[in-house]
Amino acid sequence: MQLVFATNNLNKLKEVQALIPTHIKLLSLKDIGCFEDVPETQSTIEGNAIQKAEYIKQHYGFDCFADDTGLEVDALNGTPGVFSARYAGEQRNANDNMDKLLSELSHKKNRNAQFKTVIALQFNNKQHTFTGICKGEVTSTKHGEEGFGYDPIFKPRGYNQTFAEMNLSLKNSIGHRGKAVNLLVNFLNS
Ligand code: IMP
Repeated sequence: MQLVFATNNLNKLKEVQALIPTHIKLLSLKDIGCFEDVPETQSTIEGNAIQKAEYIKQHYGFDCFADDTGLEVDALNGTPGVFSARYAGEQRNANDNMDKLLSELSHKKNRNAQFKTVIALQFNNKQHTFTGICKGEVTSTKHGEEGFGYDPIFKPRGYNQTFAEMNLSLKNSIGHRGKAVNLLVNFLNS
């Protein structure tokens, strides 16, 4: 079986590849000759995941899946959420995004938050979605060098390290994306 993973994010690719069994061959956007920006203009995480997967199916004809992820912070009514990538501006810079979030939370006691990943799958002309959530809290400073995005300031519940202080296999075993990918794999195996 071969499936396109509709992402240009090499960190996501690394995480997902580690969880996909070898009988499923993952193709990248580059592998199918897709070099344009895949649109993600919806107002929800789920909507963006579906939009990306549908775009690839419609324009390139491949069965495929797409991941959209956001960090939802309780004290900020669930934001940045779907706006996580551009939280501090169009430059989509991870450090700027983290700095903005730390500053927004500087006087807040409640630092609870969750990562939410929705994977949308286009398979045999049907659409399916799989959701993974990881609850935790936003730390007050950055810790760790692993991972990407908001990982240095997110500590999953029950752990004393941020995602950026964990290796890939621990993050995958407890994280939002790992949970969503496991649901996807169970579906494909069933
Ligand atoms: P998108 O799903 O690529 O649109 O990601 C939205 C934003 O969340 C970007 O700023 C990413 O860097 C960030 N992000 C996505 N997945 C993760 C993750 O697993 N850990 C930390 N940040 C993430």
